[in-house]
Amino acid sequence: MEFTAGLIPLETAMEQMLSRIVPVTESESIPLLKACGRITSHPVTSPIDVPGFDNSAMDGYAVRLQDLASGTALPVAGKAFAGQPFDGEWPEGTCIRIMTGAPVPQGTDAVVMQEEATVTESGVRFNEEVKNGQNVRLRGEDIRQGGNVLPAGKKLTAAELPLIASLGIPEVAVLRKVRAAVFSTGDELQLPGTPLGDGQIYDTNRLAVHIMLEQLGCDVIDLGIIHDDPEALRAAFIEADSQADVVISSGGVSVGEADYTKQLLEELGEVGFWKLAIKPGKPFAFGRLTNSWFCGLPGNPVSAALTFYQLVQPLLARLSGEQGNALPPRQRARTVGRLKKSPGRLDFQRGIMRRGEDGQLEVLSTGHQGSHIFSSFSQANCFIVLERERGHVEAGDWVEVEPFNHLFGG
Ligand code: AMP
Ligand code: MG
Repeated sequence: MEFTAGLIPLETAMEQMLSRIVPVTESESIPLLKACGRITSHPVTSPIDVPGFDNSAMDGYAVRLQDLASGTALPVAGKAFAGQPFDGEWPEGTCIRIMTGAPVPQGTDAVVMQEEATVTESGVRFNEEVKNGQNVRLRGEDIRQGGNVLPAGKKLTAAELPLIASLGIPEVAVLRKVRAAVFSTGDELQLPGTPLGDGQIYDTNRLAVHIMLEQLGCDVIDLGIIHDDPEALRAAFIEADSQADVVISSGGVSVGEADYTKQLLEELGEVGFWKLAIKPGKPFAFGRLTNSWFCGLPGNPVSAALTFYQLVQPLLARLSGEQGNALPPRQRARTVGRLKKSPGRLDFQRGIMRRGEDGQLEVLSTGHQGSHIFSSFSQANCFIVLERERGHVEAGDWVEVEPFNHLFGG
């Protein structure tokens, strides 16, 4: 693929990237309790009808309409509980006491809820008109045996897994997890817990990426901190590529003298693009290694986390085989204060959205928007997305906001 020299718009970058990604295909069968967050590899079909038998939707009385015609009270001839069906003879002119979920006795036309019945000495009287089929849940009404319950490519959560359990299925076929390798680059980086030398800082990006990868359901291969040394970096690239579907590094993608990432990507694979018209996050490299995809995040921690969120997250979703991933929702809000912005790049400022006194959505900036101010993520609950050609925004102007998802506590 051709190397693109200018700044490329985010949408173009996303399209280029996502159109090339082919989802993983290997499948495994795992217990439901282990399957939260995994993606179905095959459609789930039902081996049974749900409900499995006609049953009562209410606590009340099972009746036959012809027994009600005379209007006389009906003696109770037996009881049906959930898990304990009535299986005796049901004499004409009587009713059966029945509880919610109990199979309705053979011949039942309707169930009358107990609130609409009066118990007298001679039997039960029914106050309201009784309609055929009322309060009876029919076999197969929810799901038919053999019917499709879930498509392939569905992410399994507490909305889907209990449904599978209700079919009596103990295991589900899912796609294997995406394997993602991560490393940080920089001679200045140090591990938290060790003292800092002159000019050193603590490595924050690898933790950010590692955590988000886990939250997105990946198997993480963490290769640690790699020095700004072409040999060490080459070895890390090769090691990561041999183990992962996607390799994510941070730092070294700018144009400084110790920025070797792009050079190595050209040598070991191909560069798709590496300069985006977004802020923060301009130096984001995407490309291909021998076995894996490569994403080179910028070194500045805000830029690294933001480009991971906006670009790597959808890439991983595509790679994971998840289907039907919509773009994240955005809303319009009035800005409370002035926002600094120069035309030329799509800007993702960190904002706090809230309902104003007039009930309308409003948003305020977290303050300093520098790409080293990581605390802005923790204060914020949304991105303020400012269009590429827009300049400064005045207080009271309308802007687009994108609420944070679970990666940032949304
Ligand atoms: P680079 O892209 O390598 O030139 O890095 C840009 C800026 O981000 C520099 O100030 C680096 O010190 C800083 N930086 C790079 N990697 C990390 C990291 N893993 N954690 C925190 N800061 C970093
Ligand atoms: Mg560096």
